[in-house]
Amino acid sequence: MKIYYTCEYCGNHIDTLEVDHVDEAKFGFDCLTAQERQDIIKTDIAQNAIYVKSLCDFCITSMGLDDNIALGRPTISQGYIH
Ligand SMILES: [Zn+2]
Repeated sequence: MKIYYTCEYCGNHIDTLEVDHVDEAKFGFDCLTAQERQDIIKTDIAQNAIYVKSLCDFCITSMGLDDNIALGRPTISQGYIH
């Protein structure tokens, strides 16, 4: 299964991970509320892929977003970035 990370602000592709098994705790998904999961994570069973919205380094830097709490986003999102 592949996990695709895409910047939700500029749409840039950030990273692709290939995993045998999705460990939700490892990726921080287990810390999200059901609503956050719906917003952030899209699962494509047919493609055997998961699409995760994140922020690219460029957007983080250009917007000065070093504190996700200010955006109203869960702090766990920082785990997606790198
Ligand atoms: Zn971006």
